[in-house]
Amino acid sequence: MPSYSYLQQFDPQLFSLLQKEEERQNNELELIASENYVSRAVLEAMATVFTNKYSEGYSGHRYYGGNQVIDELENLAIERAKKLFSAEHVNVQALSGSPANAAVYMAFLEPGDKVLGLRLDHGGHLSHGHNVNFSGRLYNFVQYGLNPETGRIDMDEVRKIALQEKPKMIVAGFSAYSREIEWEKFKEIADEVGAFTFADIAHIAGLIAGGVAKNPVPIFDVVSTTTHKTLRGPRGAIIMCKEKFAKQIDRAIFPGMQGGPHDHITAAKAVAFGEALKPEFKVYAQQIINNSRALANKLSSLGYQVVSGGTDNHLMVVNLHPRGLSGKEAEQTLENIGISVSRSTIPNDPNPPLNPSGIRIGTPAATTRGMKENEMEQVAIIIDSALNNKNNSETLNTLKQEVRKLCQKFPSPSATL
Ligand SMILES: *Cc1c(COP(=O)(O)O)cnc(C)c1O
Repeated sequence: MPSYSYLQQFDPQLFSLLQKEEERQNNELELIASENYVSRAVLEAMATVFTNKYSEGYSGHRYYGGNQVIDELENLAIERAKKLFSAEHVNVQALSGSPANAAVYMAFLEPGDKVLGLRLDHGGHLSHGHNVNFSGRLYNFVQYGLNPETGRIDMDEVRKIALQEKPKMIVAGFSAYSREIEWEKFKEIADEVGAFTFADIAHIAGLIAGGVAKNPVPIFDVVSTTTHKTLRGPRGAIIMCKEKFAKQIDRAIFPGMQGGPHDHITAAKAVAFGEALKPEFKVYAQQIINNSRALANKLSSLGYQVVSGGTDNHLMVVNLHPRGLSGKEAEQTLENIGISVSRSTIPNDPNPPLNPSGIRIGTPAATTRGMKENEMEQVAIIIDSALNNKNNSETLNTLKQEVRKLCQKFPSPSATL
């Protein structure tokens, strides 16, 4: 295990920041849906001499000498990812989710081409056509939204817009949507209008790998995912596609978008995929959903409105408008007692995006710590109590101690110091 003795000796300033962040992670409850705690094995793989190497190109075709071992390393990561997701082709060099998506667009589209994606304020991602993002500036995004009554994606509506707009690509996959995605229906619609199908499974990749959510990889043309969310690997991404698109995807990543891959991160990706292939990971993935449902049910029973009425995955969006609270106020109040959540828009939010009406809550990180349904119910009660007493510093202080005690019972597996 890295002891950080060199950091401690040679850069005490940095070391003290590390200590502070470890303490925060250990003593506070992480309910941000996109975060997780990696294993020590994943952490160790990142802190290796693989970081010293330049390996532009692909296995057997590198632009630098000395890549014999890196070729083996990259092939290992690819083989494991293929097995995990039943993929025909995998590129493991994408540096993160957004650049991976940029490469996907570059591989399939010309600037100005039309793409159909989910509205950001309904749970989509910035890289799915938001006007401040490269995607919205380079491509002509048209958007579908959630049904205002059900809070779910209305596939008839998606079909109607697709027939009307005739996009060249349809994007499915979201940052704040709590229901199963009907991949086959997306594919049928895309086939009807002659569009490419692109799934962005950044959030749910771990659930898919664990066999508790449906896998779009065998169905869609191309699929991207981050590796650091439910998949519990290092920060990074991969792209999976049908063999017939392999060349154009690889070329879009290098030399299209990126230079050299981050080989130490590739190493950590391989370790994480190896972990996700183990039977224990299936148990983990199922527990994420059990926990998410327990939390959503308890919050509902305490009078909170969960968008779409519940959850099938690792997250939920809670509408605080009926409680007279803003997402920002709730995020701040919970931060004060050591719980991290992220403010979130709700479908057709009456408030502006900078001060939206909801919070997004997720269970992947808490589940990694070993928490189960009982703890989730306890957490729901703590959240409710904090939001009801947001101006009562005494109560907030008591709740903070309670959160701390709970966290100390379930140590973070990433803890090193
Ligand atoms: C998190 C996320 C991304 C972006 O990942 P980064 O690594 O932060 O760039 C892309 N798409 C979706 C759906 C996401 O949730």
